[in-house]
Amino acid sequence: MKSKFHPDKSGYFGQFGGAFVPELLFPNVKELEDNYIQIIESEEFQQEYKDLLKEYVGRPSPLYLAKRLSEKYGAYIYLKREDLNHTGAHKINNTIGQVLIAKKLGKTKIIAETGAGQHGVATATVCALMGLDCTVFMGEKDIVRQAPNVARMKMLGATIVPATSGSKTLKDATNEAIRYWIQHPETFYMIGSVVGPHPHPDMVARLQAVISEEIQWQLKEKTGKTTPDTIIACVGGGSNAAGAFYHFMDDENVELIAVEAAGLGVHSGESAATSQLGEVGIIHGSKTILMQDEYGQIKEPYSISAGLDYPGVGPLHAFLYESKRATFMNATDREALDAAYELTKLEGIIPALETAHALAVLPKLTFKKNQVVVINLSGRGDKDLETFIKYLE
Ligand SMILES: *Cc1c(COP(=O)(O)O)cnc(C)c1O
Repeated sequence: MKSKFHPDKSGYFGQFGGAFVPELLFPNVKELEDNYIQIIESEEFQQEYKDLLKEYVGRPSPLYLAKRLSEKYGAYIYLKREDLNHTGAHKINNTIGQVLIAKKLGKTKIIAETGAGQHGVATATVCALMGLDCTVFMGEKDIVRQAPNVARMKMLGATIVPATSGSKTLKDATNEAIRYWIQHPETFYMIGSVVGPHPHPDMVARLQAVISEEIQWQLKEKTGKTTPDTIIACVGGGSNAAGAFYHFMDDENVELIAVEAAGLGVHSGESAATSQLGEVGIIHGSKTILMQDEYGQIKEPYSISAGLDYPGVGPLHAFLYESKRATFMNATDREALDAAYELTKLEGIIPALETAHALAVLPKLTFKKNQVVVINLSGRGDKDLETFIKYLE
């Protein structure tokens, strides 16, 4: 399948992507680039990957027609239930795939960076499953803020290394992980979204594409058609959106809506709406759109949801934005909290705060009669209960 939304040989989506890495890291990146497609497309990988997704993760995740939500908004709204996956979100689709690739490359040690700890937990989980050594880099500030996930990672056997430089958050953890990777080229760097140097964005998108692959046949069973009219997903780095969009990107009849976190308001100074506030630059080894100051230094983003609190978007999303193939919308903290309560009251499903941003654009859209809408329910809200309860008070 040839698509203009797949990267070219050098890892570019239009002007975005590439691999901007220090020379010392080049052999690591090259090794992965030379092997990842062949591994992913091999029958052996596909069998192991599909088997683990079924027996361990619990796939296929249901495509649920949310009747009361549909009634309220006047459309057929289907929820792709990634929240029902083992560990509670879509992130495990990616880490299962990457751990199998790491094993095929003969790696015995895995490193990862994490902000909220969700990707760290998904990484520590698959390392426990495979008996691999796991080190997770995490900002010192995030270690304090995300104590329950730190405890989960430790119980799963991971070593947590605090990043004490800069703002002591995700971008600093990423810098530490890259520094460690340079010094230990025998390790495999498991990135948690469609970001980083080529081939990571493409590799992660291919591993999350199981979401849209399932949506196709599930919709066929339910509606007789393999395509919806609209797909909505939230965007931090962009992996759950990439997975939900993947098989539909070339079909212009399918409307793609990406929802970013506006924090306290897009222009409030406390926001993570990257496409609206960002400019072209280089972050984590790829050319994309990112929030930066006049010196090109990364600006600290803000969102109530830790998973959307990221200063860039992956290169595929920068291209979807620039080419206008996807519509970029955003939702504030408050709109997301309201949407989370609405889904809980109407459907008995508590979504993750990240996911709630995707739900929050429903009141801003107008639907035609019988419009079929799929919302990617990227994760469950158990981790966010404290925030939800605080909002009630
Ligand atoms: C991490 C996370 C996100 C944001 O990451 P993407 O790579 O943009 O998908 C969204 N939802 C949930 C539940 C997450 O854990």
